[in-house]
Amino acid sequence: MKIHVVEMTPTKAEVVISDTNPTFVNAIRRTIIADVPKMAIDNVEFHLGPIMDESSQAYESISPLFDEMVSHRLSLVPIPTDFDQFTFREKCSCGGEGCPSCTIMYSLNKKGPCTVYSGDLEPLGSDEFMIRDDLIPIVKLADDQALLVYATAELGTGRRHAKWQATVGAGHRYHADIEVDSDKCDVGCSCADVCPKDVLAKEGRKLVVKHPERCNLCSSCVEKCEVDAIKVTPDPTKVVFRFETDGSVDAKDVLVKGLSILEQRFEHLREQVSALD
Ligand SMILES: [Zn+2]
Repeated sequence: MKIHVVEMTPTKAEVVISDTNPTFVNAIRRTIIADVPKMAIDNVEFHLGPIMDESSQAYESISPLFDEMVSHRLSLVPIPTDFDQFTFREKCSCGGEGCPSCTIMYSLNKKGPCTVYSGDLEPLGSDEFMIRDDLIPIVKLADDQALLVYATAELGTGRRHAKWQATVGAGHRYHADIEVDSDKCDVGCSCADVCPKDVLAKEGRKLVVKHPERCNLCSSCVEKCEVDAIKVTPDPTKVVFRFETDGSVDAKDVLVKGLSILEQRFEHLREQVSALD
C-alpha cells in the first residue's frame, strides 16, 4: 500500500492510496472516526447562588439556557489534544481520580450582558490548552446574569460519544484511470472546457491529464469528445480518501494514529488466529 499526499493542512487531508481496495480504505475511515481519541469536556460544575464582581455588584448565576444545554455546548468545543501527553482516565495511574496525565481543568467566569464564547474557557495551568477555535458562541447572558463554571476534559473516542470524534466528513472514491488515445485525438480540447474539476488541459499540441486525482468520474469529457479519444474508468486498486478534523488534532496525526490502531488490531487478530490448533 502506498500513500500519496495531495493536500495536508492542520484540519484537512486528501490522500491517494494505491495498491489497496475500497474495503481496506473504509476500515481506515471507520477507525479514524470511531477509535482515534481526543479530549472533550465530560464534567461541568456550575456555581449556584450570587456571583460578585470586583465592585461588589451581585449577579444571578443563571443564563437563558438550561445548565444541561450549556454543558452540552461546552462538551462539543474542540479541546487541543496531544496523544503523547494524555491517557484514558480509567487506565491512568491515578486510578481515575483525575490528574494532569488524564484530565484538563477549565474555568469560565463571565458576567452579562455579553456573549460567552468557547475562547472564554481558561485552562487551569498550562496555556497550551487554550481553545484554538475561540469564537464558538455558547450562550448570551443578559443584564445581571453571570456564569461561573468549572469544566473537566478527558480522553475518549467517537465510539462512546460524537463529542470525542476528531474526524468529520470522511469519505473515499475510486481514483480515475484516464486514457487519451493520441492517434484519435484532434486536440479540439472542448473536453477540457466541460470538465468541472479541471482535470484535463491543453499543453501545446497535446491534451494532457493534469489532475487525475480530481476526477469524479462524471464522464462529461467522454460525452463531449466527438472523436471518441478519451476513456475514463474507475481504478479499484487506487482510492482517493479525504477527511477533515474539528481542529482538536492535526489531520496528519489523526491519520497516523488511525493506521497505528488498525495495525495493532490486525496484529492482535494474527496472534489469535495463530494460537488456534
Ligand atoms: Zn490520571
